[in-house]
Amino acid sequence: MVHSPKIDQLLDFISHSPTPLHATRQLIALLQKNGFSQLRIEDDWTTPGPGNYYVVGNHSALAAFTISGTPLAVSGLRLAGAHTDSPCLKLKPNPTRQKNNILQLVVEVYGGALLSTWFDRDLSLAGRLSWLDEKGELHSGLINFQRPIAIIPSLAIHLDREANSKKTINKQTDLVPLLAASEDECDFTDILRQQITQEHPKAGVKEIVGHDLFFYDTQQPAQIGLHGDFFTGARMDNLLSCFTLIDALIHAPESLDSLVVLNPHEEVGSVSAVGAQGPFLSILLKRLQPDSVKRQQMLARSLLISVDNAHGAHPNFMEKYDQEHLPLLNKGPVIKWNANQRYATDTVTGGFFRALCRRAGTDAQDFVMRNDMACGSTIGPLTAAATGIKTVDVGVPSLAMHSIRETVGSKDFLYMADVMQLFFSLDPQDVLWQGQQQ
Ligand SMILES: [Zn+2]
Repeated sequence: MVHSPKIDQLLDFISHSPTPLHATRQLIALLQKNGFSQLRIEDDWTTPGPGNYYVVGNHSALAAFTISGTPLAVSGLRLAGAHTDSPCLKLKPNPTRQKNNILQLVVEVYGGALLSTWFDRDLSLAGRLSWLDEKGELHSGLINFQRPIAIIPSLAIHLDREANSKKTINKQTDLVPLLAASEDECDFTDILRQQITQEHPKAGVKEIVGHDLFFYDTQQPAQIGLHGDFFTGARMDNLLSCFTLIDALIHAPESLDSLVVLNPHEEVGSVSAVGAQGPFLSILLKRLQPDSVKRQQMLARSLLISVDNAHGAHPNFMEKYDQEHLPLLNKGPVIKWNANQRYATDTVTGGFFRALCRRAGTDAQDFVMRNDMACGSTIGPLTAAATGIKTVDVGVPSLAMHSIRETVGSKDFLYMADVMQLFFSLDPQDVLWQGQQQ
């Protein structure tokens, strides 16, 4: 049986992180517990002294870093990045709909969700609310219903005889969760007011004025398989990587300079104030090194490992893969390559990561998409383009990417944890770190 306390910590983190907002809050608590203190962009600071810090952007982007006191223009930064969001169903602004005696909530699809997996699941709702109090002051806060409150039932096969051969899903009409059986008019803001008051007793809600609420599956993530070889759960892409990076940074030596950046909105293209195409990281790098020439030196001496789950080879669908590049579950981290820069890896950064894996006691595997299929992308190329930092795109091999319940290999998570731990521990004189600077 594959076993490690880290596995329990990961599964606990994912089950308490139904949305990117909750994931960020969880990670901030972990950072604070381990001596990281907050810096705010709205405050007046540059080049903080030696220590452990974090910066939050709009409650959903997070950067955490360790500063050693060595001039950053000389030492460069060990950078790693991941994304906090996952495809899901988001409530529309006016969500209630009454059909016969059933109260339903209408949704938008967020990102490229594998929609067939959202049927017949016990769904709950979580996210952020904005409200006015008695004095007219505006507040916002997170809520999480936790218990299953909704379901999207499939249509019975007797009413759709071709369901197993020709099923299509209409996003507007087929994906409307059922909330309650009731003939009465429902004021949904009343339900939200009750929930926010229950979770934040001092909220003093007079009026709810907005919500960002997302459905999620209440089934807990689990380690499964005859020998515990797999994890299954929602949002493995990419909360597994987020947890791995923050955990590695917390255990990194304080004598080296390391930074982890976690962005939301990757699943919808990363164009936002806090997405990887926004200015969040660049603003922070300017604060760390305000002098532009010194900052260029710092960036030239830095390297970014962009960590996002990769496609593992699915034994039932082998024809979907390039036969010379078949990442296998539990055989180690995957380096992602693409000639057209959908991934930022080149031979220097890919070679660096492969050598890093070897030293950590595992082998790296390689992934390229078939030439006759479109290749996805991730935050790596966007961050590389925005900052000029050399970058490698990697991730653990996974199955059922963007399903409501994804599958990864238990050992791969532990391999990746070891590799990232080693990365943040590379001394400036180390031959591997020196090699990436040539
Ligand atoms: Zn991803």
